Amino acid sequence: MPFDPVYKELSDKLGVWESVRFLRVLQATMTPLEAKICMELFEPATCPELSERLNIDTKSLQKHLDVLVDKGMITRGLTQYAFHTTLLAFHHECCADTAPHTGPYAMTEEQKALWKDFFYNEWSHEFMKHIEEMIKNFGKNLPISPSILALELSPNIKPEDILPEENFKLKIENAKRRILAPCGCRTSWGHGCDKPLMTCFAAFDRPRGEYYLNLPGRLLKEVSLEEALEAAKDAERAGLVHWGDCYCCDSCCENLFPITRSKRYDLMTPNRYAAVVDDEKCTGCKKCEKRCYFEAIEFIPVEGNPKRVKAHVIPESCKGCGLCIITCKPNALRYEIVRPPEYLKQKPPEDGKEAVAPQFPVWGHYNLK
Ligand code: SF4
Ligand code: SF4
Ligand code: SF4
Repeated sequence: MPFDPVYKELSDKLGVWESVRFLRVLQATMTPLEAKICMELFEPATCPELSERLNIDTKSLQKHLDVLVDKGMITRGLTQYAFHTTLLAFHHECCADTAPHTGPYAMTEEQKALWKDFFYNEWSHEFMKHIEEMIKNFGKNLPISPSILALELSPNIKPEDILPEENFKLKIENAKRRILAPCGCRTSWGHGCDKPLMTCFAAFDRPRGEYYLNLPGRLLKEVSLEEALEAAKDAERAGLVHWGDCYCCDSCCENLFPITRSKRYDLMTPNRYAAVVDDEKCTGCKKCEKRCYFEAIEFIPVEGNPKRVKAHVIPESCKGCGLCIITCKPNALRYEIVRPPEYLKQKPPEDGKEAVAPQFPVWGHYNLK
């Protein structure tokens, strides 16, 4: 069946390259009229304004707007409505962490399969280009976050050595509201893994979380300080890397999967920490090697006993995720600080423009009039 031209227009406006797979996603998730309404809402507008532009009476338009809000395809203010500004925001709001997961507008299995097809075959390749671009512009990608548990297991690191911007525990403690969401990768195109699900911090202490918390069918939940800390630590224990707002493994994570699939570890920026091995304590069990997504651990024969091996962390390959440290039963691994605080500063602008530090994208509009 040919695609209604409005899907192509919407796809173009979202900046998606020529992609039949994405047109299939749009066709399966919204009607042509809904797509037309979304097209008009790249700039916020009220129902009467839209009614005039689209030549639809306000009463029936209002019904469509209500459905689109419930589907997570547009956001609602006091009188205004708005569509999402990027493909990433569109995907997250209508299919992933803040999407409806129960009720009449929950994603169907068919819709999820289409997103999955689009992600693994096309979008994940585009992610690589985006990261390369980010590194070109800023000198680095967003660094991996140091692990809360690994820091606790490294008594040589004093609390005052940890910078506020890399101290996730502090961010959790200082949050005004603590709202957890389900892992967006798993809910969109995951393979049904057994890792903890409520590991997404993209709505945590943000207007985005407050907006979606009370919409029907969402899985978001507000938690206590202790619960939020435990969710982060549980994710670390399960072997999930903390990058940006997510705790992920490389099976279906938007960012980690394309990088490890292609072994482009250079695209994952390390933080200021690296794991080091205490030779005296290492038993050579190799558990740490299995945990490391970046092939940063090798084994070298023990002097005088070549049948035995000990772990060695390759300094230039270690990203500082800390997962190996948590895994090591004999506590033979710990963090060392290997880069100065200036390392986290952004690259100075070369073209005279004001530089913007690498960060996760701003999502949709949550403070509409
Ligand atoms: S990225 Fe990993 S943790 Fe997240 S859903 Fe996929 S398999 Fe599970
Ligand atoms: S997990 Fe610990 S004891 Fe086992 S090989 Fe790695 S560093 Fe050595
Ligand atoms: S060696 Fe691997 S698992 Fe350990 S901190 Fe470095 S990147 Fe993470």
